[in-house]
Amino acid sequence: MKLTTWGACGTVTGSCHLLEHQGFKLLLDCGVYQGEAEDANSAPFPFDVRQIDALVLSHAHLDHVGRIPRLFHEGYGGRVYATAPTLKLARPILEDALKLMKEDIKRARRKKLPVPELLWDEADIRLFNERGKPVPYYSPRKIGPFLVTLNNAGHLPGSAFVEVRAGGRTLVFSGDLGNRRKETLPDPDYPRVADLTLSESTYGDRPHRPFQETLVEFAEVLGRTLDAGGKVVIPSFALERAQEILFYIRRFEAEGQIPVVPVFVDSPLTTQVSEIYGQIQDAFSSLVQSFYRRGIDPFAPQKLRYTRSVDESKRINELEGPAIIIAGSGMLSGGRILHHLRHQLPNPKNAVVFVGYQPRGGLGHRLISGESPVRIMGHEIQVRARVYALGGFSGHAGRDELLDWLAAEKRIVLVHGEDAARQSLARRLRAAGASVNLARLGQKYEV
Ligand SMILES: [Zn+2]
Repeated sequence: MKLTTWGACGTVTGSCHLLEHQGFKLLLDCGVYQGEAEDANSAPFPFDVRQIDALVLSHAHLDHVGRIPRLFHEGYGGRVYATAPTLKLARPILEDALKLMKEDIKRARRKKLPVPELLWDEADIRLFNERGKPVPYYSPRKIGPFLVTLNNAGHLPGSAFVEVRAGGRTLVFSGDLGNRRKETLPDPDYPRVADLTLSESTYGDRPHRPFQETLVEFAEVLGRTLDAGGKVVIPSFALERAQEILFYIRRFEAEGQIPVVPVFVDSPLTTQVSEIYGQIQDAFSSLVQSFYRRGIDPFAPQKLRYTRSVDESKRINELEGPAIIIAGSGMLSGGRILHHLRHQLPNPKNAVVFVGYQPRGGLGHRLISGESPVRIMGHEIQVRARVYALGGFSGHAGRDELLDWLAAEKRIVLVHGEDAARQSLARRLRAAGASVNLARLGQKYEV
């Protein structure tokens, strides 16, 4: 087998790798670049799309699936192999990406800025839906000369790490590995010893804060703010983080740690994902499944409301009394969260709780650093609400979990991590006797 690393090299987005054997070309993931590296998404693919024979996906996050419609747009004619939950969850994620791409184009036209190109459209999402081929965990599937097995990666419902065998050799691709402290998802499986392991390294330089500490702090912040009649605004990603937050709010209510108050999910994408959750109950931990079996939705606090229209969203801001508002985007790059922050930040009774990564220089990062006033949608806003950043909710394996997962591997190629994280992880792996390489874009490996 020949492997070429075509994405997520020295960065945590843009996952895409090519495996070749006996002339058959298998692509592992086809994700978008996000944040600073975004411009790379409009660059031509570094391979001939029409010659790709098959595509295998690790999980439904945009940085692993976001360029698939473009692959179809440019003539890809093969199948998309992934677990059934991954195929289901990827659909609204791609539809949302298309919506955002169209909004960017409209905004650029309105402001007379250079208009970005529409790289793909609805027809390509339809092709993705038609060409999707669900593959259950642990059942080896023949794809050309390859035997491909998906194992549980514990990072999202349906997330997989991929084992590929051909010509008597084995490659393992980690995809993104989950955080073992998570209660909603099953723990990641361990890999078999492979001839080459292509591994993520997102948190390769740091262990996670203990998850229990995070939960205790989360319950305290919620309880204190709601008891005093304030509102809690939580910016969150639509896929998995928002539902996990709902899971704990429901638990805190049931345990009497926080009062029962209206909980608004004000994000159409989160609503869609939550609907899919009810259809893929097998993809969760045994704890979550036990709730479903007893007829309890583990992701539904007592007064949960999904707001659909913009009018409903606006009415939340007129509401008196305590409430929790979960909205996107998680990194405050746009979306309804900005309206909520604009209205709730000036009130000292309120709290904003960050449960996910905030990029340096972004609004979230400035709020966490204590900046006030801040500019939101052209308004100068005084920050009187309390701002909390809770570490520990990460959906990724921390450093020690990565070392544990990779402990038996002899030849490791690191992707999906900033260079500092990769180098730090590589040092520890080498000290334990492994041969480790930090992948560069377009680098080739003989497996
Ligand atoms: Zn991911």
